[in-house]
Amino acid sequence: MTFKIGAHVSIEGGFTKALEREKALGGNCGQIFVKSPRTWHITKTTEKETSQFKEKYEKSNLKPFMAHGTYLINLATPKEELFQKSIECLKKEIEKTNKLSLPYITFHPGSHTGSGEEKGINKVIQGLNELEETLKNVETQLLLENTSGKGSTLGHTFPQLERMIKETNAPNIGVCLDTAHAYGAGYDFKTTTGIQKTLKEIKKTIGLHRIRMIHLNDSLAPLGSRKDQHAHGTNGEIGKEGIKNIVNHKELRNIPMVRETNLPQKDIAIAKELRQKQSV
Ligand SMILES: [Zn+2]
Ligand SMILES: [Zn+2]
Repeated sequence: MTFKIGAHVSIEGGFTKALEREKALGGNCGQIFVKSPRTWHITKTTEKETSQFKEKYEKSNLKPFMAHGTYLINLATPKEELFQKSIECLKKEIEKTNKLSLPYITFHPGSHTGSGEEKGINKVIQGLNELEETLKNVETQLLLENTSGKGSTLGHTFPQLERMIKETNAPNIGVCLDTAHAYGAGYDFKTTTGIQKTLKEIKKTIGLHRIRMIHLNDSLAPLGSRKDQHAHGTNGEIGKEGIKNIVNHKELRNIPMVRETNLPQKDIAIAKELRQKQSV
């Protein structure tokens, strides 16, 4: 199977520009924001632009491309207004992603901001339930991204993600595995034994099949520090050996990988260099 590796790219100048950028970087899959990730505002996209993108994307060998949701979204919040706003925003983003014919949209479940883990997880489940109808009517699948556990963010353990996925009625919820976040949360993605141990927990909880995409990021923050700091290339705590272990691991190597970095071209090239013909 071809090594699927790409990077997050900008949509500046229009959606189709993102595909051109990915190609120029040497990627063969990727990620975009379908709207500005730091505001609630959803910019309208014309039918023409949507269909132009769709046509170009479907003909391309850049599949899969994934959308990344707005950073303001917080389904775990105890604040009702923010909760409702988050659901409305996610609904629109899911619909927009589907119109662009992208298979996935990933988002961070949110922070309980003091209400406690239990209440926060229950709010996420309630939020996902409110997306049930939207998700039933689209082909795009919603992915929960694991977090580093910074502050009161939830989704930093696989048992937490398992509860969110298994206790909601929303269909086809998957996971986007961010290796830097997982490392910050205390999951070793560095050594082969560490990866084995982490995979064992994944299989016991969410199931490996739930992981539809990987954010292949190195972490500046140490193992279990509960900090979210991405490193370029292999210049972090996971390092060259760790990234090499991930891109070659027999149970991970066929999952599409996306790098989230300011040096996308270089970092895609590094991942390709470390990739071997045989799995480990
Ligand atoms: Zn993310
Ligand atoms: Zn990520």
